[in-house]
Amino acid sequence: MTDTASGTAVRVSVHISGIVQGVGFRPYVYALASHHQLAGSVANDERGVIIEVEGPASRVDAFLAELPEKAPRLAVIEEVVTAPLEPRHQAGFSIGATTGSTGRTALISADVATCAACLAEVLDPGNRRHRYVFTNCTDCGPRYTIVRDVPYDRSATTMAGFLMCAECRREYDDVTDRRFHAQPTCCPACGPRLALRTLDGTAVPGDPVAATAALLAGGAVVAVKGLGGYHLAADARSEAAVATLRARKHREDRPFALMVADVAAARSLAAVSAEEEALLTSAARPIVLLRAREPGVVAASVAPGQRSLGVMLPYTALHHLLLAAVDGPLVMTSGNVSDEPIAYDDTDAATRLATIADAFVTSDRPIQTRVDDSVIRVVRGRPLPVRRSRGYVPMPLMVPVECRRPILACGPELKNTLCLARGHQAFLSHHIGDLENYETFQSYLEAIAHLQRLLDVVPAVVAHDLHPEYLSTKHALSLPGVELVGVQHHHAHIASCLADNGVTGPVIGVAFDGLGMGDDGTLWGGEFLVADLESYERVAHLDCVPMPGGAAAVRQPWRMAAAHLDAAYDGKTPAGLAVLARQGRRWTDVLAIARAGVNAPLTSSAGRLFDAVAAILGLRDEVSYEGQAAIDLEMCADPDEPGTYRVDVANGGPYVVDTGSLIRAVVRDVAAGVAAPIVSARFHRALADAVVDVCSRVRSARGLDTDALSGGVFQNVRLVELCLDGLLGHGFAVLTHRQVPPNDGGVSLGQAAVAAARDRLRPS
Ligand code: ZN
Ligand code: ZN
Ligand code: FE
Repeated sequence: MTDTASGTAVRVSVHISGIVQGVGFRPYVYALASHHQLAGSVANDERGVIIEVEGPASRVDAFLAELPEKAPRLAVIEEVVTAPLEPRHQAGFSIGATTGSTGRTALISADVATCAACLAEVLDPGNRRHRYVFTNCTDCGPRYTIVRDVPYDRSATTMAGFLMCAECRREYDDVTDRRFHAQPTCCPACGPRLALRTLDGTAVPGDPVAATAALLAGGAVVAVKGLGGYHLAADARSEAAVATLRARKHREDRPFALMVADVAAARSLAAVSAEEEALLTSAARPIVLLRAREPGVVAASVAPGQRSLGVMLPYTALHHLLLAAVDGPLVMTSGNVSDEPIAYDDTDAATRLATIADAFVTSDRPIQTRVDDSVIRVVRGRPLPVRRSRGYVPMPLMVPVECRRPILACGPELKNTLCLARGHQAFLSHHIGDLENYETFQSYLEAIAHLQRLLDVVPAVVAHDLHPEYLSTKHALSLPGVELVGVQHHHAHIASCLADNGVTGPVIGVAFDGLGMGDDGTLWGGEFLVADLESYERVAHLDCVPMPGGAAAVRQPWRMAAAHLDAAYDGKTPAGLAVLARQGRRWTDVLAIARAGVNAPLTSSAGRLFDAVAAILGLRDEVSYEGQAAIDLEMCADPDEPGTYRVDVANGGPYVVDTGSLIRAVVRDVAAGVAAPIVSARFHRALADAVVDVCSRVRSARGLDTDALSGGVFQNVRLVELCLDGLLGHGFAVLTHRQVPPNDGGVSLGQAAVAAARDRLRPS
């Protein structure tokens, strides 16, 4: 029946690469081929999915046309390669097993929130998965957090130890079932078990969810094992419970994330726009930073001094059941002490969290890779990532130039991610954290090894920061037989923004940041770079001041106030300033350090300028985490204040933004008794005006009219919006981050893009 009026029988092979394994792709192909009455087969291999179809040419063409269009929800098709074959006059269509071959380029999916169909089963008393918290299917469930190796098969995941029962096996083998080849599928008869345990490891009898809800209602802190690690949960309405958690966690002032049952519950805490709702309910289920309603809806200790709340929706069946049982918002913060990485190994968690949690909700399904919750905010209707991790990793980003050779970008020191790149794809790792303790550095090395194995990438080119003391730089320099590419920190920030937007430049890059090693030995952080992916030129910067005491000046913003005031007033800081009076003798000592220039590196950092102004306004003299004073300054700004300050820009090459003129304007207002919210608003606007001023001068000189905004300071929504208004109003096109954070979490993508661009310039 293959030779018909509609055409002679043809046979073609179709190779599809992308995220096509573990997402229901083979059953989809089977159904589509059956619909078109085609013979052939479909199978996974180590590069993706391989299909052979045979039938009349017109039907094969229709099949090929529909193939990418109707693909499953979680599939990401990157490439389709077809080739003609000899017809075999085969009958029927079959689904083959996974075949082995060389080249492991099949992509692993990110973890996916529990789908509606699975949740309905969990809530249905008549279903065999009623209240079973590990329920998943091809559309949802754990992926990256359980994968040990590729190809993605159950035996290569942490579900390997669970033998499927007959019923699960039947679903797994049934091409028409939602769980056909769902690798982590399981049920109460055969899958992992949930248990509530006391601190000595004793399992609490009865339903773990109900018992946990009762503990939480009584004010307890409970460690709850999730997809990528443990959360610490507490009743968000109980000031006593949240304050206890805060005290035990040593998390001085950092805001806690909240989990609420649904969008309606989120709306009762904060304003939720359509874009924010889309993010909250997306399969990735990130924490979305929302504008809080009136204070008092949740305990004050949840987010002290913040106008925003970090809110996420349940992403496992356990979360859904727990939120329903508690009937109110829960604090769900990462399970760690202070700055340590999140606990994910059960034994490790039992030890490290014993002083924080009153009980543990745990299971016998191991977590392979620790993955923190992702964090996003929406600015002007567009996502601005703060942390890209669970739900996004390891989905690839596209680099705008093709990598000639595989690249490893080692990332920065703080908020580290690393990046592996090959071809047009860049794989940004999960959030590793600050590489300052042994445990975090170990998890960094493990992440590199794990991603290299999953992606089968052996890097030939290794990109690193210029700072010689970063552990990531030291790691790069320790690697034998690779070509090293040093990338200046702020060039990496701008390149990251370019790659994020799929362009190569050149642009006028504005990198406002904490600190990064400059190419002149000073610490940069308030830079204007004319940059493309290959190179940059520093065309302007904020005026440099000493950072008295080095790292101590990061922890104590008043030191930056001393340095900026001393520079602004040429050593004659007006007496009577409150910040000066608060420090007394220490002020004089620190000025001596600043003036002597010993242990007082020069910096043009915008982040440190925010610190200085926050201290001058009396908002904060010391911080418990980097950026805290700058956040205070942003939060305090009066949104209705239209005023600004005049900021001088010194002509020359490079232009220098006279931060002294800005500091003096702030001091004049403070001396005149102008309230801090007004001064903060004027300061923000003045800085944005200075950005527009400098970019306009650079445009005149260079003929460039696209700006790229990057660096940690551009997490400041107020500053981003003022810069957008100013620059767009002056006819610039403006690139901001959309997929990776403007902070150091995005730096490794920039390093990889720069290395890829430079590698293409080399003679082969
Ligand atoms: Zn599902
Ligand atoms: Zn089962
Ligand atoms: Fe940075």
